[in-house]
Amino acid sequence: HARDPNQPEFMQAVKEVMACLWPFIENNPRYAEYGLLSRLVEPERAIQFRVSWVDDNGRVQTNRAFRIQHNSAIGPFKGGMRFHPSVNLSILKFLAFEQTFKNALTTLPMGGGKGGSDFDPKGKSDAEVMRFCQALMIELYRHLGPDTDVPAGDIGVGAREVGFMAGMMKKLSNSASSVFTGKGITFGGSLIRPEATGYGTVYFAEEMLQHAKQSLDGLTVSVSGSGNVAQYAIEKCMQMGAKVVTVSDSHGCVVDMAGFTPAKLEALIDLKNNRRDRIETYAKEHNLTYEIGKRPWHVPVDVALPCATQNELELDDAKMLIKNGVRCVAEGANMPTSLDAVDAFIGAKVLYAPGKASNAGGVAVSGLEMSQNALRLNWPREEVDARLHAIMRDIHENCVRYGAHGNEVNYLNGANIAGFVKVADAMLAQGVY
Ligand code: NDP
Repeated sequence: HARDPNQPEFMQAVKEVMACLWPFIENNPRYAEYGLLSRLVEPERAIQFRVSWVDDNGRVQTNRAFRIQHNSAIGPFKGGMRFHPSVNLSILKFLAFEQTFKNALTTLPMGGGKGGSDFDPKGKSDAEVMRFCQALMIELYRHLGPDTDVPAGDIGVGAREVGFMAGMMKKLSNSASSVFTGKGITFGGSLIRPEATGYGTVYFAEEMLQHAKQSLDGLTVSVSGSGNVAQYAIEKCMQMGAKVVTVSDSHGCVVDMAGFTPAKLEALIDLKNNRRDRIETYAKEHNLTYEIGKRPWHVPVDVALPCATQNELELDDAKMLIKNGVRCVAEGANMPTSLDAVDAFIGAKVLYAPGKASNAGGVAVSGLEMSQNALRLNWPREEVDARLHAIMRDIHENCVRYGAHGNEVNYLNGANIAGFVKVADAMLAQGVY
């Protein structure tokens, strides 16, 4: 705390991981040697820089941007870029720290990183977003490379923003090496990458339910958020026979007890991705209730998939979900559940999956995008989806391996220990630096 004042999100993430690791480290004291833990919580490099750009009215705007290169023990730094007014050093350090364990869990050779800016793409023209992305890359490009650091999308950074940044990267580096993932399909993108985080979260929820001799088929699900992760979580839930009854955004939530249909999802995707409007409009156009300022957790469901942002599911929300009989909570977002809410779920024996396990499908397919780029090949949709599904099963198995106590699995312990062991072994083998 003394070293990193005013970094509550980073402290929260470190506390969660260390609380899980402590009993394991006491039984495996070699992991307490060579300053391993203090090296693990310190980013290898954190870059902060100014981004100045000219808006459509000819005025100069200045934003702040960052790239946190957290840990490269098992591969190049890898993690998304977030554009949101709330972005600061604490949030990006927490995300980069989490990313390190998540990437280790995917079984692919990727280190952990994260970046972003307090730039808000909402309400900006395409030309403004392009100028901002280009201005950001004027600094960021020198820190990236296919074997150094490979960014991707996150909140506020979708196909449009990745395209503008990847284009500028190519221009400045005079190289066509693909140093972003989540690229468009015409310039090195992978099929299934847009779907991967949402699909993977639902595959993971299904694995947890099956392990407990249940299934998603016929269950009712609440999803929060309405962006990339939420959209494809909804699609996969429907494909697996579950009924999704909520979505949300930063202003409120929509409740639809009849459940999503493919036509409604198509309308939501068009509204969010093309019209760039709010879900309040979606609710009006479909005669649905829009609850201003509310989260979706008061709606009775079997499964909850928080897919919006950090700390969007707190203790009172967890208590309400538990009271209403929730069986499974799988995080599509990063750290959406506060620490006390996580404890409440685990205490109530709800199947709870931390994001670093359940939302790892996105970065896993980013890893597959890197492989395809290196091979100069494009794999068909079915092949990428099958690999994604297999990776999610592997992550589940690994969580069971490190988190099972009798018939029960503590997925929080499982994910944290499994991710840690891989990174820690790699760090120990490569010496102190
Ligand atoms: P998008 O920008 O596509 O969507 C974000 C969604 O979350 C929007 O519905 C947004 O609402 C909502 N949201 C953002 N901030 C808040 C807030 N403060 N309170 C309530 N709702 C909010 O982002 P993604 O879907 O890509 O990311 C969602 C989460 O998933 C993040 O935690 C991200 O880190 C995580 N994630 C994403 C991966 C990916 O592949 N994209 C991979 C792994 C994790 P509004 O439109 O009002 O802003």
